Amino acid sequence: MRALTIDTHGQLDQLAFRDDVAVPEIASPDDVRIRVHAAALNHLDLWVVRGVPGVRIAPGWILGSDCAGVVDAVGSGVTSLRPGDRVVVNPGVSDRTCEYCRSGDNPLCLRYAILGEHRPGTLADYVVVPAANALPIPSTVSFPVAAAFPLATLTAWRMVVSRANVRPDDQVLIRGIGGGVALAALQISKHIGARVWVTSGSDAKLARARVLGADETINHSTQDVAREVRARTGKRGVDVVIDSVGEATWTSSLGSLGKRGRLVTCGGTSGPLVQTDIRRLFWNQWTIMGSTMGSDAEFDAIVAELREGRLQPPIDSAFPLEQGRKAFERLQSGEQFGKVVVTVADP
Ligand SMILES: [Zn+2]
Repeated sequence: MRALTIDTHGQLDQLAFRDDVAVPEIASPDDVRIRVHAAALNHLDLWVVRGVPGVRIAPGWILGSDCAGVVDAVGSGVTSLRPGDRVVVNPGVSDRTCEYCRSGDNPLCLRYAILGEHRPGTLADYVVVPAANALPIPSTVSFPVAAAFPLATLTAWRMVVSRANVRPDDQVLIRGIGGGVALAALQISKHIGARVWVTSGSDAKLARARVLGADETINHSTQDVAREVRARTGKRGVDVVIDSVGEATWTSSLGSLGKRGRLVTCGGTSGPLVQTDIRRLFWNQWTIMGSTMGSDAEFDAIVAELREGRLQPPIDSAFPLEQGRKAFERLQSGEQFGKVVVTVADP
């Protein structure tokens, strides 16, 4: 089969399109094999190419976490799906038996594995996953839209709904609008009814975010984010910050938080090490939370939104699998607004 692979870590010139990769076999009675129709990229894919500390890959490693497609084969124990079913795939694989899984916290699973990072990925003609990781989607949801959906929306849903517990009267500040998680967080926060602030270094991205419902926009290249938030809220600050940027935004994210503020982080695309003034942390009684991926229940919840057309990921661009490196270059450029899709099967 065809696949986008790397043999070793490095820059994007390590990416290799191959057409001689063995089709994966069903390994467990609970597995399904999916004919991938569309995949999508996440910032995680760039980290995997560069190398994630503690994560080792084998040569010919297949990249990609997100996909949607058609069930091709099912293991002997699978009853929830049949060949021919259209599905969207949860990229986080858990054992569903450890204490964290049993308490509904699959991303804390002791054997948690993400497609493309810890297991063979989705940028290929076929991928094998546990049947519980694939949920049916109706024909009204296209494969590119479904592929662009899972990782970013699942991550944002857990951050906004489960961790920050955003309420209609909250003000939510989302850093770096244009990325998949930030855009999903914007859409989810607006569905809840919150007042949403977004930041970007691009006026064009801020204008597009307004079309998607952003109430307040701040250009972090030309404006001091914390000062703007303070000025526009009468010094009150926002209730929640959604931050996946890290080093570059941390200080101004905390500086934008009002009393009892909650900051949720799911990553540090600009760097992982930050400084926090604990005097402000305790005096303002802030809560700083980490979050990653989402549980089976949260995946059920977001796919229900997808099926009904209530949550649709903005798509920036699409590239065929053979031109996968161009898709990665688009993601690395940081110029995208929305998801970068990779089409795998013929439309
Ligand atoms: Zn587990």
